[in-house]
Amino acid sequence: MESLVAGTRELGVTLADSHLAAFETCYRELVDWNRRFNLTAITDWEGVLVRHFLDSLSCLKALPRKELAAGARVVDVGTGAGFPGLVLKVVCPGMRLTLLEATRKKVTFLEHIVRVLGLEEVEIVHGRAEALGRDSSRRERYDWALARAVAEMPTLAEYLLPLVRVGGAALAQKGEGAAAEVQTAETAITTLGGRVRQLVPVELRGLAETRYLVVLDKLAATPDKYPRRPGMPRKSPIK
Ligand code: SAH
Repeated sequence: MESLVAGTRELGVTLADSHLAAFETCYRELVDWNRRFNLTAITDWEGVLVRHFLDSLSCLKALPRKELAAGARVVDVGTGAGFPGLVLKVVCPGMRLTLLEATRKKVTFLEHIVRVLGLEEVEIVHGRAEALGRDSSRRERYDWALARAVAEMPTLAEYLLPLVRVGGAALAQKGEGAAAEVQTAETAITTLGGRVRQLVPVELRGLAETRYLVVLDKLAATPDKYPRRPGMPRKSPIK
Protein backbone atom coordinates (compact mmCIF):
# COMPACT_ATOMS: atom_id res chain seq x y z
CA MET A 1 0.00 0.00 0.00
CA GLU A 2 2.93 2.36 0.63
CA SER A 3 3.43 3.14 -3.05
CA LEU A 4 -0.27 3.88 -3.51
CA VAL A 5 -0.50 6.12 -0.44
CA ALA A 6 2.72 8.00 -1.21
CA GLY A 7 1.99 8.09 -4.94
CA THR A 8 -1.48 9.56 -4.51
CA ARG A 9 -0.14 12.09 -2.00
CA GLU A 10 2.18 13.32 -4.74
CA LEU A 11 -0.94 13.80 -6.85
CA GLY A 12 -2.49 15.84 -4.05
CA VAL A 13 -4.94 13.11 -3.04
CA THR A 14 -5.23 11.74 0.50
CA LEU A 15 -6.57 8.21 0.70
CA ALA A 16 -8.73 7.17 3.65
CA ASP A 17 -8.66 3.68 5.17
CA SER A 18 -11.96 2.94 3.44
CA HIS A 19 -10.36 3.67 0.06
CA LEU A 20 -7.45 1.37 0.82
CA ALA A 21 -9.86 -1.39 1.86
CA ALA A 22 -11.75 -0.94 -1.43
CA PHE A 23 -8.52 -1.19 -3.43
CA GLU A 24 -7.55 -4.35 -1.58
CA THR A 25 -10.91 -5.85 -2.47
CA CYS A 26 -10.50 -4.76 -6.09
CA TYR A 27 -7.09 -6.40 -6.24
CA ARG A 28 -8.33 -9.67 -4.73
CA GLU A 29 -11.33 -9.90 -7.05
CA LEU A 30 -9.29 -8.94 -10.11
CA VAL A 31 -6.70 -11.64 -9.50
CA ASP A 32 -9.35 -14.20 -8.60
CA TRP A 33 -11.43 -13.53 -11.75
CA ASN A 34 -8.30 -13.30 -13.85
CA ARG A 35 -7.76 -17.05 -13.40
CA ARG A 36 -10.94 -17.68 -15.39
CA PHE A 37 -11.15 -14.60 -17.63
CA ASN A 38 -8.23 -12.75 -19.07
CA LEU A 39 -8.79 -9.31 -17.57
CA THR A 40 -5.25 -8.02 -17.12
CA ALA A 41 -1.67 -9.03 -17.83
CA ILE A 42 -0.54 -7.41 -14.59
CA THR A 43 -1.31 -9.45 -11.47
CA ASP A 44 1.45 -8.73 -8.95
CA TRP A 45 0.37 -6.47 -6.09
CA GLU A 46 2.91 -3.71 -6.72
CA GLY A 47 2.21 -3.76 -10.45
CA VAL A 48 -1.55 -3.45 -10.01
CA LEU A 49 -1.08 -0.69 -7.42
CA VAL A 50 1.06 1.46 -9.67
CA ARG A 51 0.00 0.59 -13.22
CA HIS A 52 -3.72 0.24 -12.59
CA PHE A 53 -4.73 2.06 -9.40
CA LEU A 54 -2.21 4.89 -9.21
CA ASP A 55 -2.21 5.41 -12.97
CA SER A 56 -6.02 5.67 -12.93
CA LEU A 57 -5.93 8.15 -10.05
CA SER A 58 -3.41 10.28 -11.92
CA CYS A 59 -6.38 11.54 -14.00
CA LEU A 60 -7.10 13.74 -10.98
CA LYS A 61 -4.21 15.94 -12.12
CA ALA A 62 -6.53 17.13 -14.88
CA LEU A 63 -10.08 16.38 -13.67
CA PRO A 64 -11.89 18.99 -11.54
CA ARG A 65 -12.47 17.19 -8.23
CA LYS A 66 -15.12 19.66 -7.05
CA GLU A 67 -17.21 19.10 -10.16
CA LEU A 68 -16.87 15.33 -9.83
CA ALA A 69 -17.98 15.55 -6.20
CA ALA A 70 -20.96 17.64 -7.28
CA GLY A 71 -22.22 14.90 -9.62
CA ALA A 72 -20.45 15.46 -12.92
CA ARG A 73 -21.39 12.89 -15.56
CA VAL A 74 -18.39 10.85 -16.63
CA VAL A 75 -18.15 8.04 -19.19
CA ASP A 76 -15.14 5.71 -19.27
CA VAL A 77 -14.92 4.29 -22.79
CA GLY A 78 -13.41 0.80 -23.11
CA THR A 79 -12.95 0.56 -19.36
CA GLY A 80 -11.88 -3.10 -19.40
CA ALA A 81 -11.71 -4.17 -15.75
CA GLY A 82 -12.56 -0.60 -14.67
CA PHE A 83 -9.55 1.53 -15.47
CA PRO A 84 -9.54 4.42 -14.96
CA GLY A 85 -13.25 4.98 -14.20
CA LEU A 86 -13.92 2.54 -11.40
CA VAL A 87 -10.82 3.55 -9.46
CA LEU A 88 -11.74 7.24 -9.75
CA LYS A 89 -15.25 6.45 -8.52
CA VAL A 90 -13.86 4.88 -5.33
CA VAL A 91 -12.10 8.13 -4.46
CA CYS A 92 -14.75 10.52 -5.90
CA PRO A 93 -18.06 8.85 -5.02
CA GLY A 94 -20.10 11.90 -6.06
CA MET A 95 -19.46 11.45 -9.75
CA ARG A 96 -22.15 9.88 -11.93
CA LEU A 97 -20.25 7.24 -13.81
CA THR A 98 -20.94 5.19 -16.92
CA LEU A 99 -18.54 2.34 -17.60
CA LEU A 100 -18.67 1.35 -21.27
CA GLU A 101 -17.15 -1.91 -22.39
CA ALA A 102 -17.56 -3.96 -25.56
CA THR A 103 -16.47 -7.35 -24.16
CA ARG A 104 -19.13 -9.31 -22.27
CA LYS A 105 -16.84 -11.09 -19.80
CA LYS A 106 -15.37 -7.77 -18.69
CA VAL A 107 -18.88 -6.39 -18.22
CA THR A 108 -19.68 -9.39 -16.02
CA PHE A 109 -16.63 -8.63 -13.88
CA LEU A 110 -17.61 -4.94 -13.65
CA GLU A 111 -21.13 -5.85 -12.48
CA HIS A 112 -19.61 -8.08 -9.83
CA ILE A 113 -17.03 -5.63 -8.53
CA VAL A 114 -19.47 -2.69 -8.42
CA ARG A 115 -21.81 -4.85 -6.34
CA VAL A 116 -19.05 -6.04 -4.01
CA LEU A 117 -17.81 -2.50 -3.46
CA GLY A 118 -21.37 -1.23 -2.96
CA LEU A 119 -20.85 1.68 -5.35
CA GLU A 120 -23.86 3.77 -6.26
CA GLU A 121 -24.55 5.83 -9.39
CA VAL A 122 -22.47 3.55 -11.56
CA GLU A 123 -24.03 2.40 -14.79
CA ILE A 124 -22.41 -0.42 -16.72
CA VAL A 125 -23.08 -0.53 -20.43
CA HIS A 126 -22.18 -3.43 -22.68
CA GLY A 127 -21.64 -1.87 -26.07
CA ARG A 128 -19.48 0.10 -28.41
CA ALA A 129 -18.59 3.77 -28.33
CA GLU A 130 -19.72 4.17 -31.95
CA ALA A 131 -23.23 3.00 -31.01
CA LEU A 132 -23.46 5.05 -27.82
CA GLY A 133 -22.38 8.16 -29.67
CA ARG A 134 -25.39 7.82 -31.98
CA ASP A 135 -27.87 7.17 -29.19
CA SER A 136 -29.72 10.45 -28.55
CA SER A 137 -29.91 9.81 -24.80
CA ARG A 138 -26.10 9.49 -24.66
CA ARG A 139 -24.79 11.72 -27.39
CA GLU A 140 -23.31 14.98 -26.07
CA ARG A 141 -24.60 14.20 -22.57
CA TYR A 142 -21.38 13.75 -20.62
CA ASP A 143 -19.25 16.37 -18.86
CA TRP A 144 -16.19 14.17 -19.30
CA ALA A 145 -15.30 11.17 -21.47
CA LEU A 146 -12.20 9.24 -20.39
CA ALA A 147 -10.16 6.45 -21.91
CA ARG A 148 -6.96 4.56 -21.30
CA ALA A 149 -5.29 2.15 -23.71
CA VAL A 150 -8.26 1.89 -26.09
CA ALA A 151 -7.18 3.28 -29.47
CA GLU A 152 -4.85 5.66 -31.28
CA MET A 153 -5.75 9.31 -30.89
CA PRO A 154 -7.61 9.91 -34.23
CA THR A 155 -9.80 6.85 -33.58
CA LEU A 156 -10.18 7.65 -29.91
CA ALA A 157 -11.33 11.20 -30.67
CA GLU A 158 -14.22 9.73 -32.68
CA TYR A 159 -15.13 7.46 -29.74
CA LEU A 160 -14.96 10.18 -27.10
CA LEU A 161 -15.90 13.59 -28.50
CA PRO A 162 -19.44 12.69 -29.73
CA LEU A 163 -20.34 11.70 -26.15
CA VAL A 164 -19.16 14.98 -24.61
CA ARG A 165 -21.53 17.96 -24.23
CA VAL A 166 -20.43 21.25 -25.75
CA GLY A 167 -18.47 22.88 -22.93
CA GLY A 168 -17.34 19.51 -21.57
CA ALA A 169 -14.03 17.75 -22.15
CA ALA A 170 -12.34 14.46 -22.98
CA LEU A 171 -9.28 12.98 -21.29
CA ALA A 172 -7.05 10.33 -22.88
CA GLN A 173 -4.28 8.66 -20.89
CA LYS A 174 -1.29 8.23 -23.13
CA GLY A 175 2.38 7.23 -22.98
CA GLU A 176 5.60 8.77 -24.27
CA GLY A 177 4.22 9.17 -27.78
CA ALA A 178 1.37 11.45 -26.67
CA ALA A 179 2.52 14.63 -28.44
CA ALA A 180 3.13 12.85 -31.74
CA GLU A 181 -0.22 11.05 -31.50
CA VAL A 182 -2.04 14.30 -30.84
CA GLN A 183 -0.43 15.84 -33.93
CA THR A 184 -1.72 13.04 -36.13
CA ALA A 185 -5.18 13.61 -34.64
CA GLU A 186 -5.46 17.37 -35.16
CA THR A 187 -7.85 17.04 -38.12
CA ALA A 188 -10.00 14.45 -36.37
CA ILE A 189 -10.23 16.53 -33.19
CA THR A 190 -11.21 19.72 -35.03
CA THR A 191 -13.66 17.91 -37.31
CA LEU A 192 -15.45 16.43 -34.28
CA GLY A 193 -15.82 19.81 -32.55
CA GLY A 194 -12.84 19.54 -30.23
CA ARG A 195 -9.64 21.39 -29.49
CA VAL A 196 -6.54 20.30 -27.62
CA ARG A 197 -6.46 22.05 -24.25
CA GLN A 198 -3.28 20.61 -22.79
CA LEU A 199 -0.96 17.65 -22.35
CA VAL A 200 -0.32 17.12 -18.67
CA PRO A 201 2.83 15.11 -17.92
CA VAL A 202 2.51 12.56 -15.12
CA GLU A 203 5.38 10.92 -13.26
CA LEU A 204 4.31 7.85 -11.32
CA ARG A 205 6.28 6.35 -8.47
CA GLY A 206 8.12 3.29 -9.62
CA LEU A 207 7.57 3.98 -13.34
CA ALA A 208 10.49 5.17 -15.43
CA GLU A 209 8.46 6.49 -18.35
CA THR A 210 6.49 9.73 -18.33
CA ARG A 211 2.76 9.40 -18.92
CA TYR A 212 0.51 12.11 -20.34
CA LEU A 213 -3.06 13.20 -19.84
CA VAL A 214 -4.33 14.57 -23.13
CA VAL A 215 -7.22 16.96 -22.46
CA LEU A 216 -9.55 17.97 -25.30
CA ASP A 217 -12.20 20.68 -24.97
CA LYS A 218 -15.50 20.20 -26.76
CA LEU A 219 -16.10 23.56 -28.40
CA ALA A 220 -18.78 22.81 -30.97
CA ALA A 221 -21.39 20.13 -31.66
CA THR A 222 -20.10 17.03 -33.44
CA PRO A 223 -21.41 16.83 -37.04
CA ASP A 224 -24.24 14.30 -37.48
CA LYS A 225 -22.20 11.87 -39.55
CA TYR A 226 -19.94 11.07 -36.57
CA PRO A 227 -19.33 8.67 -35.03
CA ARG A 228 -19.43 6.46 -38.10
CA ARG A 229 -20.63 2.87 -37.90
CA PRO A 230 -18.80 0.41 -35.60
CA GLY A 231 -15.33 -0.40 -36.84
CA MET A 232 -14.97 2.59 -39.15
CA PRO A 233 -13.17 4.96 -36.74
CA ARG A 234 -10.49 2.32 -36.37
CA LYS A 235 -10.38 1.06 -39.93
CA SER A 236 -10.39 4.48 -41.48
CA PRO A 237 -9.49 7.21 -38.94
CA ILE A 238 -10.42 10.80 -39.82
CA LYS A 239 -7.40 12.40 -41.53
N1 SAH B 1 -9.17 0.95 -20.15
C1 SAH B 1 -8.75 -0.36 -19.67
C2 SAH B 1 -8.86 -1.44 -20.75
C3 SAH B 1 -7.94 -1.24 -21.92
S1 SAH B 1 -8.08 -2.55 -23.12
C4 SAH B 1 -7.33 -0.29 -19.12
O1 SAH B 1 -6.65 0.69 -19.37
O2 SAH B 1 -6.91 -1.23 -18.44
C5 SAH B 1 -9.20 -1.79 -24.28
C6 SAH B 1 -10.65 -2.11 -23.94
O3 SAH B 1 -11.48 -1.30 -24.74
C7 SAH B 1 -11.02 -3.55 -24.21
O4 SAH B 1 -11.59 -4.10 -23.06
C8 SAH B 1 -12.01 -3.48 -25.37
O5 SAH B 1 -13.03 -4.45 -25.27
C9 SAH B 1 -12.56 -2.07 -25.21
N2 SAH B 1 -12.96 -1.43 -26.47
C10 SAH B 1 -12.21 -1.32 -27.60
N3 SAH B 1 -12.89 -0.63 -28.55
C11 SAH B 1 -14.08 -0.28 -27.99
C12 SAH B 1 -15.23 0.42 -28.48
N4 SAH B 1 -15.26 0.91 -29.72
N5 SAH B 1 -16.28 0.60 -27.66
C13 SAH B 1 -16.25 0.09 -26.40
N6 SAH B 1 -15.21 -0.60 -25.87
C14 SAH B 1 -14.14 -0.79 -26.67
